[in-house]
Amino acid sequence: MNTDVNTEANLDWADIRRRAEAGEGIREHEAAAMSGLRSEADLRALYEVAGAVRHVMKGNFVNTCGISNAKSGRCAEACSFCSQSAHFTTDAPKYQLKSADTLVTEAKEAWHNGVREFSLVASGRAMTSRVELDTVKDAVSRIREETGMQTCASLGLMGKEALAELQAAGLQAVHHNLETARSFHGNIVSTHTYDEEVDTVKAAKSLGMYTCCGGIFGMGESWAQRVELALELRNLDVDSVPLNFLNPRPGTPLEAQHELTAEDCLKIIAIFRLVLPTKDLIVCGGRASNLGERQDEIFRVGANGVMLGNYLTTAGREAEMDLEMLEKEGLVIRPPPHKPHPSSLRPSVRGEGTDANGVA
Ligand code: SF4
Repeated sequence: MNTDVNTEANLDWADIRRRAEAGEGIREHEAAAMSGLRSEADLRALYEVAGAVRHVMKGNFVNTCGISNAKSGRCAEACSFCSQSAHFTTDAPKYQLKSADTLVTEAKEAWHNGVREFSLVASGRAMTSRVELDTVKDAVSRIREETGMQTCASLGLMGKEALAELQAAGLQAVHHNLETARSFHGNIVSTHTYDEEVDTVKAAKSLGMYTCCGGIFGMGESWAQRVELALELRNLDVDSVPLNFLNPRPGTPLEAQHELTAEDCLKIIAIFRLVLPTKDLIVCGGRASNLGERQDEIFRVGANGVMLGNYLTTAGREAEMDLEMLEKEGLVIRPPPHKPHPSSLRPSVRGEGTDANGVA
Protein backbone atom coordinates (compact mmCIF):
# COMPACT_ATOMS: atom_id res chain seq x y z
CA MET A 1 0.00 0.00 0.00
CA ASN A 2 1.26 3.48 -0.84
CA THR A 3 1.41 5.33 2.49
CA ASP A 4 1.56 8.66 0.66
CA VAL A 5 -2.04 8.18 -0.38
CA ASN A 6 -4.79 9.63 1.76
CA THR A 7 -7.33 6.90 1.09
CA GLU A 8 -10.34 8.70 2.53
CA ALA A 9 -9.93 11.72 0.26
CA ASN A 10 -8.06 9.74 -2.39
CA LEU A 11 -5.14 12.16 -2.47
CA ASP A 12 -1.84 10.82 -3.75
CA TRP A 13 0.53 13.33 -2.15
CA ALA A 14 3.64 12.11 -3.97
CA ASP A 15 1.94 12.45 -7.35
CA ILE A 16 0.42 15.83 -6.43
CA ARG A 17 3.82 17.09 -5.34
CA ARG A 18 5.51 15.83 -8.50
CA ARG A 19 2.94 17.50 -10.74
CA ALA A 20 2.88 20.79 -8.81
CA GLU A 21 6.67 21.00 -8.76
CA ALA A 22 6.52 20.65 -12.53
CA GLY A 23 4.19 23.67 -12.59
CA GLU A 24 0.94 21.78 -13.06
CA GLY A 25 -1.87 22.93 -10.80
CA ILE A 26 -3.94 20.31 -9.02
CA ARG A 27 -7.28 19.16 -10.36
CA GLU A 28 -10.59 20.51 -9.14
CA HIS A 29 -11.58 17.30 -7.35
CA GLU A 30 -8.21 17.26 -5.55
CA ALA A 31 -8.64 20.85 -4.36
CA ALA A 32 -12.15 19.99 -3.19
CA ALA A 33 -10.86 16.95 -1.30
CA MET A 34 -8.13 19.06 0.33
CA SER A 35 -10.65 21.59 1.53
CA GLY A 36 -12.33 18.78 3.51
CA LEU A 37 -9.17 17.68 5.32
CA ARG A 38 -9.44 17.97 9.10
CA SER A 39 -7.07 15.60 10.85
CA GLU A 40 -3.69 16.82 12.04
CA ALA A 41 -1.89 14.20 9.93
CA ASP A 42 -3.76 15.16 6.74
CA LEU A 43 -3.20 18.87 7.28
CA ARG A 44 0.48 18.24 7.96
CA ALA A 45 0.73 16.35 4.65
CA LEU A 46 -0.99 19.21 2.80
CA TYR A 47 1.23 21.86 4.36
CA GLU A 48 4.41 19.90 3.72
CA VAL A 49 3.63 19.47 0.03
CA ALA A 50 2.52 23.09 -0.43
CA GLY A 51 5.62 24.36 1.40
CA ALA A 52 7.89 22.18 -0.71
CA VAL A 53 6.26 23.44 -3.91
CA ARG A 54 6.75 27.04 -2.79
CA HIS A 55 10.41 26.33 -2.18
CA VAL A 56 10.90 24.78 -5.60
CA MET A 57 9.04 27.60 -7.37
CA LYS A 58 10.20 30.61 -5.37
CA GLY A 59 13.35 29.60 -3.50
CA ASN A 60 14.01 31.70 -0.42
CA PHE A 61 12.78 34.94 -1.98
CA VAL A 62 9.81 36.74 -0.56
CA ASN A 63 7.85 39.52 -2.27
CA THR A 64 7.03 42.47 -0.05
CA CYS A 65 4.35 44.95 -0.95
CA GLY A 66 2.98 48.02 0.75
CA ILE A 67 0.14 50.37 0.02
CA SER A 68 -0.97 53.93 0.37
CA ASN A 69 -4.65 54.49 1.03
CA ALA A 70 -4.37 57.23 -1.56
CA LYS A 71 -8.02 58.27 -1.57
CA SER A 72 -10.38 57.14 1.13
CA GLY A 73 -14.11 56.80 1.77
CA ARG A 74 -17.19 58.26 0.09
CA CYS A 75 -17.40 55.38 -2.37
CA ALA A 76 -20.71 55.03 -4.22
CA GLU A 77 -20.27 51.26 -4.50
CA ALA A 78 -21.64 48.84 -1.92
CA CYS A 79 -19.17 46.05 -1.14
CA SER A 80 -20.33 44.41 2.09
CA PHE A 81 -16.85 44.05 3.57
CA CYS A 82 -15.73 47.62 2.93
CA SER A 83 -15.79 50.44 5.44
CA GLN A 84 -15.19 52.98 2.68
CA SER A 85 -18.61 52.57 1.09
CA ALA A 86 -20.89 55.60 1.48
CA HIS A 87 -23.77 53.12 1.94
CA PHE A 88 -22.54 52.22 5.44
CA THR A 89 -21.87 54.30 8.55
CA THR A 90 -18.30 53.59 9.59
CA ASP A 91 -15.32 55.39 11.05
CA ALA A 92 -13.16 54.99 7.91
CA PRO A 93 -11.30 58.17 7.00
CA LYS A 94 -12.67 60.28 4.16
CA TYR A 95 -10.37 62.35 1.98
CA GLN A 96 -9.66 63.16 -1.64
CA LEU A 97 -6.66 61.87 -3.56
CA LYS A 98 -3.38 62.68 -1.81
CA SER A 99 -0.85 64.84 -3.63
CA ALA A 100 1.94 63.24 -5.64
CA ASP A 101 4.43 64.67 -3.10
CA THR A 102 2.68 62.86 -0.24
CA LEU A 103 2.48 59.59 -2.14
CA VAL A 104 6.18 59.72 -3.03
CA THR A 105 7.08 60.44 0.61
CA GLU A 106 5.00 57.47 1.77
CA ALA A 107 6.64 55.25 -0.83
CA LYS A 108 10.10 56.21 0.41
CA GLU A 109 9.11 55.42 4.01
CA ALA A 110 7.78 52.06 2.87
CA TRP A 111 11.07 51.33 1.07
CA HIS A 112 12.95 51.84 4.31
CA ASN A 113 10.58 49.38 6.00
CA GLY A 114 11.40 46.61 3.51
CA VAL A 115 8.67 47.17 0.89
CA ARG A 116 9.72 46.52 -2.72
CA GLU A 117 6.36 46.89 -4.49
CA PHE A 118 4.26 49.93 -3.66
CA SER A 119 0.60 50.28 -4.61
CA LEU A 120 -1.55 53.38 -4.74
CA VAL A 121 -5.05 52.35 -3.72
CA ALA A 122 -8.01 54.66 -4.30
CA SER A 123 -11.60 54.21 -3.17
CA GLY A 124 -14.38 54.47 -5.71
CA ARG A 125 -15.83 52.59 -8.63
CA ALA A 126 -13.27 54.08 -11.03
CA MET A 127 -10.96 57.03 -11.65
CA THR A 128 -13.06 59.60 -13.37
CA SER A 129 -11.20 62.88 -13.33
CA ARG A 130 -8.26 63.85 -15.49
CA VAL A 131 -6.68 65.63 -12.51
CA GLU A 132 -6.73 62.40 -10.48
CA LEU A 133 -5.27 60.35 -13.28
CA ASP A 134 -2.50 62.90 -13.85
CA THR A 135 -1.69 62.94 -10.13
CA VAL A 136 -1.35 59.15 -10.09
CA LYS A 137 0.81 59.26 -13.23
CA ASP A 138 3.09 61.86 -11.65
CA ALA A 139 3.37 59.88 -8.41
CA VAL A 140 4.02 56.59 -10.22
CA SER A 141 6.75 58.01 -12.39
CA ARG A 142 8.50 59.66 -9.43
CA ILE A 143 8.20 56.58 -7.17
CA ARG A 144 9.79 54.46 -9.86
CA GLU A 145 12.51 56.99 -10.52
CA GLU A 146 13.28 57.92 -6.91
CA THR A 147 12.97 54.53 -5.18
CA GLY A 148 13.26 51.87 -7.87
CA MET A 149 10.29 50.04 -6.34
CA GLN A 150 7.87 48.09 -8.50
CA THR A 151 4.87 50.38 -8.98
CA CYS A 152 1.31 49.16 -8.66
CA ALA A 153 -2.09 50.83 -8.63
CA SER A 154 -5.53 49.75 -7.49
CA LEU A 155 -7.93 52.33 -8.83
CA GLY A 156 -11.22 50.48 -9.26
CA LEU A 157 -12.62 49.43 -12.62
CA MET A 158 -10.31 50.50 -15.43
CA GLY A 159 -10.25 50.31 -19.21
CA LYS A 160 -7.33 49.76 -21.50
CA GLU A 161 -6.90 53.41 -22.45
CA ALA A 162 -6.35 54.75 -18.92
CA LEU A 163 -4.18 51.76 -18.04
CA ALA A 164 -2.01 52.37 -21.10
CA GLU A 165 -1.50 55.97 -19.98
CA LEU A 166 -0.44 54.82 -16.53
CA GLN A 167 1.82 52.19 -18.04
CA ALA A 168 3.51 54.85 -20.18
CA ALA A 169 4.11 56.83 -16.96
CA GLY A 170 5.88 53.84 -15.41
CA LEU A 171 3.13 51.73 -13.84
CA GLN A 172 4.17 48.08 -13.90
CA ALA A 173 1.44 46.27 -11.97
CA VAL A 174 -2.32 46.53 -11.66
CA HIS A 175 -4.15 45.29 -8.61
CA HIS A 176 -7.82 44.45 -8.87
CA ASN A 177 -9.42 41.77 -6.71
CA LEU A 178 -12.30 39.62 -7.87
CA GLU A 179 -13.19 39.65 -4.13
CA THR A 180 -14.73 36.15 -4.13
CA ALA A 181 -16.09 33.36 -6.31
CA ARG A 182 -18.36 34.25 -9.19
CA SER A 183 -21.19 32.24 -7.57
CA PHE A 184 -20.91 34.29 -4.33
CA HIS A 185 -20.09 37.75 -5.72
CA GLY A 186 -23.75 38.85 -5.80
CA ASN A 187 -24.00 38.21 -2.04
CA ILE A 188 -21.17 40.68 -1.41
CA VAL A 189 -21.25 43.28 -4.18
CA SER A 190 -24.52 44.73 -5.49
CA THR A 191 -23.32 47.70 -7.53
CA HIS A 192 -21.07 46.14 -10.15
CA THR A 193 -20.74 42.76 -11.77
CA TYR A 194 -18.17 40.01 -11.65
CA ASP A 195 -17.54 40.45 -15.36
CA GLU A 196 -16.66 44.11 -14.80
CA GLU A 197 -14.02 43.00 -12.29
CA VAL A 198 -12.70 40.40 -14.72
CA ASP A 199 -12.61 42.93 -17.60
CA THR A 200 -10.27 45.24 -15.66
CA VAL A 201 -7.85 42.36 -15.10
CA LYS A 202 -8.06 41.32 -18.74
CA ALA A 203 -7.40 44.91 -19.89
CA ALA A 204 -4.21 45.01 -17.79
CA LYS A 205 -3.14 41.60 -19.08
CA SER A 206 -3.70 42.66 -22.68
CA LEU A 207 -1.12 45.43 -22.11
CA GLY A 208 1.39 42.97 -20.70
CA MET A 209 1.15 44.43 -17.21
CA TYR A 210 1.82 42.36 -14.06
CA THR A 211 -1.61 41.52 -12.67
CA CYS A 212 -2.28 41.19 -8.97
CA CYS A 213 -5.74 39.75 -8.40
CA GLY A 214 -7.19 37.76 -5.52
CA GLY A 215 -9.91 37.92 -2.96
CA ILE A 216 -11.12 38.05 0.61
CA PHE A 217 -11.98 34.98 2.64
CA GLY A 218 -14.31 34.56 5.58
CA MET A 219 -17.26 36.49 4.12
CA GLY A 220 -19.65 33.53 4.33
CA GLU A 221 -18.46 31.72 1.21
CA SER A 222 -18.21 27.93 1.21
CA TRP A 223 -15.03 25.91 0.76
CA ALA A 224 -16.29 24.99 -2.70
CA GLN A 225 -16.46 28.70 -3.51
CA ARG A 226 -12.90 29.22 -2.29
CA VAL A 227 -11.79 26.52 -4.70
CA GLU A 228 -13.96 28.11 -7.40
CA LEU A 229 -12.10 31.42 -6.94
CA ALA A 230 -8.71 29.69 -7.16
CA LEU A 231 -9.74 28.04 -10.43
CA GLU A 232 -11.12 31.32 -11.84
CA LEU A 233 -7.77 32.99 -11.10
CA ARG A 234 -5.94 30.12 -12.75
CA ASN A 235 -8.10 30.54 -15.87
CA LEU A 236 -7.39 34.28 -15.87
CA ASP A 237 -3.67 33.49 -15.58
CA VAL A 238 -2.97 36.38 -13.19
CA ASP A 239 0.61 36.84 -12.00
CA SER A 240 0.05 37.37 -8.32
CA VAL A 241 -2.77 36.47 -5.93
CA PRO A 242 -3.32 38.56 -2.80
CA LEU A 243 -5.07 36.54 -0.10
CA ASN A 244 -7.03 38.64 2.38
CA PHE A 245 -8.80 37.32 5.47
CA LEU A 246 -11.82 39.32 6.60
CA ASN A 247 -11.22 41.64 9.50
CA PRO A 248 -14.85 42.68 10.02
CA ARG A 249 -15.29 46.44 10.13
CA PRO A 250 -17.86 47.99 12.46
CA GLY A 251 -20.76 49.48 10.54
CA THR A 252 -20.45 47.19 7.50
CA PRO A 253 -22.96 44.41 6.78
CA LEU A 254 -20.23 41.89 7.65
CA GLU A 255 -19.36 43.44 11.02
CA ALA A 256 -20.43 40.31 12.94
CA GLN A 257 -18.80 37.82 10.57
CA HIS A 258 -16.04 35.98 12.43
CA GLU A 259 -15.70 32.57 10.89
CA LEU A 260 -12.09 31.87 9.97
CA THR A 261 -9.68 30.02 12.22
CA ALA A 262 -5.93 30.29 11.78
CA GLU A 263 -6.06 26.71 10.47
CA ASP A 264 -8.62 27.74 7.83
CA CYS A 265 -6.30 30.53 6.66
CA LEU A 266 -3.31 28.19 6.41
CA LYS A 267 -5.38 25.63 4.53
CA ILE A 268 -6.55 28.30 2.07
CA ILE A 269 -2.95 29.37 1.43
CA ALA A 270 -1.83 25.76 0.90
CA ILE A 271 -4.66 24.92 -1.50
CA PHE A 272 -4.06 28.11 -3.50
CA ARG A 273 -0.35 27.23 -3.74
CA LEU A 274 -1.21 23.83 -5.21
CA VAL A 275 -3.86 25.19 -7.61
CA LEU A 276 -1.49 27.99 -8.69
CA PRO A 277 1.98 26.52 -8.17
CA THR A 278 3.91 29.03 -10.27
CA LYS A 279 2.17 32.23 -9.13
CA ASP A 280 3.05 34.73 -6.44
CA LEU A 281 0.84 34.27 -3.37
CA ILE A 282 0.79 37.35 -1.16
CA VAL A 283 -0.83 37.34 2.28
CA CYS A 284 -2.40 40.76 2.82
CA GLY A 285 -5.25 42.14 4.92
CA GLY A 286 -6.39 40.38 8.08
CA ARG A 287 -3.11 38.52 8.58
CA ALA A 288 -2.61 39.53 12.20
CA SER A 289 -6.25 39.40 13.26
CA ASN A 290 -6.90 35.96 11.74
CA LEU A 291 -3.56 34.18 12.10
CA GLY A 292 -2.27 35.68 15.34
CA GLU A 293 0.75 33.75 16.54
CA ARG A 294 0.63 31.47 13.50
CA GLN A 295 1.56 34.25 11.06
CA ASP A 296 5.08 32.89 10.70
CA GLU A 297 3.66 29.67 9.21
CA ILE A 298 2.28 31.30 6.05
CA PHE A 299 5.52 30.75 4.14
CA ARG A 300 5.85 27.14 5.28
CA VAL A 301 2.42 26.37 3.74
CA GLY A 302 2.93 28.09 0.40
CA ALA A 303 2.89 31.90 0.56
CA ASN A 304 5.84 33.70 -1.02
CA GLY A 305 4.81 37.26 -0.31
CA VAL A 306 3.44 39.48 2.37
CA MET A 307 2.03 42.95 2.72
CA LEU A 308 4.05 45.06 5.13
CA GLY A 309 2.90 48.15 6.99
CA ASN A 310 -0.68 49.31 7.34
CA TYR A 311 -3.64 47.99 5.38
CA LEU A 312 -6.29 50.23 3.85
CA THR A 313 -8.24 51.15 6.95
CA THR A 314 -6.60 49.04 9.64
CA ALA A 315 -3.13 49.05 11.17
CA GLY A 316 -0.55 46.39 10.36
CA ARG A 317 2.22 45.03 12.57
CA GLU A 318 5.40 46.95 13.30
CA ALA A 319 7.74 46.68 10.31
CA GLU A 320 10.53 45.46 12.57
CA MET A 321 8.48 42.46 13.71
CA ASP A 322 7.70 41.46 10.13
CA LEU A 323 11.32 41.82 9.03
CA GLU A 324 12.37 39.65 11.97
CA MET A 325 9.77 37.07 10.94
CA LEU A 326 11.21 36.94 7.40
CA GLU A 327 14.73 36.59 8.71
CA LYS A 328 13.72 33.83 11.12
CA GLU A 329 12.07 31.94 8.28
CA GLY A 330 15.29 32.20 6.24
CA LEU A 331 13.70 34.42 3.61
CA VAL A 332 15.27 37.22 1.61
CA ILE A 333 13.31 40.13 0.20
CA ARG A 334 13.11 39.94 -3.58
CA PRO A 335 14.54 43.08 -5.16
CA PRO A 336 12.27 45.02 -7.50
CA PRO A 337 12.49 44.00 -11.15
CA HIS A 338 14.24 47.16 -12.26
CA LYS A 339 16.91 49.48 -10.97
CA PRO A 340 17.19 48.50 -7.29
CA HIS A 341 17.89 51.48 -5.08
CA PRO A 342 21.58 51.38 -4.15
CA SER A 343 21.60 52.23 -0.49
CA SER A 344 18.45 51.45 1.39
CA LEU A 345 18.41 47.68 2.02
CA ARG A 346 18.41 47.04 5.72
CA PRO A 347 21.14 44.81 7.09
CA SER A 348 18.55 42.36 8.38
CA VAL A 349 17.23 41.63 4.91
CA ARG A 350 20.29 42.33 2.81
CA GLY A 351 21.66 39.34 1.02
CA GLU A 352 21.32 37.30 -2.08
CA GLY A 353 18.23 35.18 -2.40
CA THR A 354 18.44 31.93 -4.24
CA ASP A 355 15.99 29.65 -5.86
CA ALA A 356 15.78 26.02 -4.85
CA ASN A 357 18.76 25.21 -7.04
CA GLY A 358 20.90 27.85 -5.37
CA VAL A 359 20.64 30.19 -8.37
CA ALA A 360 20.41 33.86 -7.52
S1 SF4 B 1 -14.13 47.85 -2.15
FE1 SF4 B 1 -13.67 49.62 -3.46
S2 SF4 B 1 -15.47 49.77 -4.81
FE2 SF4 B 1 -16.09 48.48 -3.07
S3 SF4 B 1 -16.99 49.93 -1.59
FE3 SF4 B 1 -14.83 49.70 -1.05
S4 SF4 B 1 -13.79 51.40 -2.09
FE4 SF4 B 1 -15.81 51.14 -3.04
